[in-house]
Amino acid sequence: MAVTPRILIVTNRYPREGKPPIVGTPETYVQALYGVQAAPMLVPLSEAPETVLEVWWPVVDGVLLAGGGDVEPSRFNGAMHPKVREVYPDRDAVEIALARKAVAEGKPLLAICRGIQVLNVALGGTLYTDIPDQVPNAVAHRGTGPLRDVCTHQVRVEPSSALAGILGATELCVNSFHHQAIKDLAPGLRAVAWSPCGLIEAVEVPGHPFAVGVQWHPELMLPHGNAAMQALFAAFARAAGTYGAQRPTAAAPASARDAV
Ligand code: MN
Repeated sequence: MAVTPRILIVTNRYPREGKPPIVGTPETYVQALYGVQAAPMLVPLSEAPETVLEVWWPVVDGVLLAGGGDVEPSRFNGAMHPKVREVYPDRDAVEIALARKAVAEGKPLLAICRGIQVLNVALGGTLYTDIPDQVPNAVAHRGTGPLRDVCTHQVRVEPSSALAGILGATELCVNSFHHQAIKDLAPGLRAVAWSPCGLIEAVEVPGHPFAVGVQWHPELMLPHGNAAMQALFAAFARAAGTYGAQRPTAAAPASARDAV
């Protein structure tokens, strides 16, 4: 039985001058999931990790770790850096818990930008806390332009990776809006794409049905038609749909309910 894949997204927090902050997520993530017939389910900050695992985890088929601010450096024994920004320890806590559980239990996981960094930290890796300061000769990883969909730098994708199969390419140009990056790769992750300056731009979990992290923003490359990024979201939704069909708490069809 096919089910509509339910995708959990933890919100970000957006401070406002003179008003309470907003918790929400950029609509581009929501639209990307609608575009592949998946149902986004937004968990507001500052829900406790234990509550998310108790209440939300059993009823979702996949987790999307979205972009956002920086992971608190103490999470990976890193030193504070003056350019570290928008740290929300409550978001770190819940997303790290979700990343670990998704990897451990085979629930589909798509980790975008901050998400790939959260995934790496969750599994024991470390981060460069500021690329311009710590990576000599790095290419520009901060794109310009209001639409944020323009090609910022090339990436080389490992031909034998699941990601290359999904994208249908081993060389592509991506947008880029990050000042941090994976430094020491976590055990259990495989690096599968690199920038021209050698930074890790994508990872996957070998043997997992779908656990992919990308350092770029595929959701921002969709609106003007990008077949490779559409295929990435489609593969995520397909894996989540397959997971959902087996999920014990998936709603039984009406006929099955009637028969009980
Ligand atoms: Mn980049």
